[in-house]
Amino acid sequence: MGDSDRKILVAGTGPAGLIAALLLAHHGYPVTLAGPVPRGRDRRTVALMRPSLEAIEPLGVLGKLLPETAPLRAMRLVDATGRLVRSPTVTFHAGEIGEEYFGLNIPNARLSEELAEAAKGSPLIEWHESLVGAWSCEAERVIATLDNGERLSAQLAIAADGRNSPARRAAGMSARTRTLPQSALVLNFKHTREHGFVSTEFHTRSGPCTQVPLPGMRSSLVWVLRPQDADTMNTLNDNALSLKLEEQLSSFLGRVTVEPERQIYPLSTLMPSRFGQNRIALIGEAAHVFPPISAQGLNLGIRDVEDIVAVVAAFRDDPGAPAAVTRYDALRRPDVLARSNSVNLLNASLLSGLLPAQIARSAGLGIIDSIPPLRALFMREGMRPGSGFSALLPLKGKDQAAESRS
Ligand SMILES: Cc1cc2nc3c(=O)[nH]c(=O)nc-3n(C[C@H](O)[C@H](O)[C@H](O)COP(=O)(O)OP(=O)(O)OC[C@H]3O[C@@H](n4cnc5c(N)ncnc54)[C@H](O)[C@@H]3O)c2cc1C
Repeated sequence: MGDSDRKILVAGTGPAGLIAALLLAHHGYPVTLAGPVPRGRDRRTVALMRPSLEAIEPLGVLGKLLPETAPLRAMRLVDATGRLVRSPTVTFHAGEIGEEYFGLNIPNARLSEELAEAAKGSPLIEWHESLVGAWSCEAERVIATLDNGERLSAQLAIAADGRNSPARRAAGMSARTRTLPQSALVLNFKHTREHGFVSTEFHTRSGPCTQVPLPGMRSSLVWVLRPQDADTMNTLNDNALSLKLEEQLSSFLGRVTVEPERQIYPLSTLMPSRFGQNRIALIGEAAHVFPPISAQGLNLGIRDVEDIVAVVAAFRDDPGAPAAVTRYDALRRPDVLARSNSVNLLNASLLSGLLPAQIARSAGLGIIDSIPPLRALFMREGMRPGSGFSALLPLKGKDQAAESRS
């Protein structure tokens, strides 16, 4: 039985865990990483916004991924609910806020592959390719017993072990979860008209149907449907599904040909009672789950990582001390609550047949669309919370806002 003792243990090797281990190593902290090597089965793409790209830039993986990614130069929201009260179509251009693009659309499997390779090559990361089978939270340290029998001990464990997070339960952090009456059908497709690097989100009665550009005449798709409809769509052959999709997109990309290998993701929400306790800090989907609207999940996960790195820097002697995890909890709470609530509210307003919900959604988008400073605020806030408001402040205020995050 091996025994390893380092200050920081990261449990979970999805994108959030790998980014956490790599960013900590980049800042000079030795890290133990526990979890299997990611397999390239994830067909999703992830739209990472500019602040997230800047955060992971030092990891050296983006350059290798660039040929497989596409920039998002504009985002369009189309009300396809067919309800009595409908929102206007709203298009946000990155150029309006002086940016060339909002973010990049990256294939998940390739992102994980490059992150894993970087983690393997890092001299500060000791990777144990096994799941954690049991946790023990003690006053001075946390101990993880791996399925392969090894025991890892650390002052701080960063739980990136996904929505069912065994670490979260072991630390006594409860979580409110809700299964949604929705599933996401995920696939990539070719089309005969240029996407112009615009992502279009059709808001339908069952949820959003979002096209996101890929290089060339290709796009990725996240189509949120009632679970039984997603299953039915999935039984169609490629030609029949292509026709259905073309109809849903009102042929705005011309003829559509879906590529093989689709996936279905049942949707749910999750909100923990705390983000850190008993020497364990939650990041990624261990800390928040909500429906895939407006590309928020991993962007929020990267902000979790930035905050835990800041906490580790502030509590170098004992990064898992009660004061450290309490600080982390306080840092993450407003951001996670705000993002989860806004996404869940928008999702609920799509599903709701109630007139007030339809009017609120429609009025909200209408107001944002028609008032230029609000448009800019909305776009900046969509990329990074606080940045929209700080852009409205005089320079001194901006500096203060930046300082308060660091
Ligand atoms: C359809 C869809 C589209 C999305 N699109 C976007 C988007 O465009 N932009 C965006 O920002 N977000 C998006 N998201 C959200 C994003 O995909 C997630 O936030 C992200 O994948 C979560 O990563 P994670 O590392 O936290 O979790 P996961 O990827 O679930 O990783 C968890 C890891 O923990 C490991 N693990 C589990 N148990 C243990 C254990 N006992 N010990 C050790 N390891 C363990 C697992 O093996 C796994 O490697 C989307 C989500 C969906 C469903």
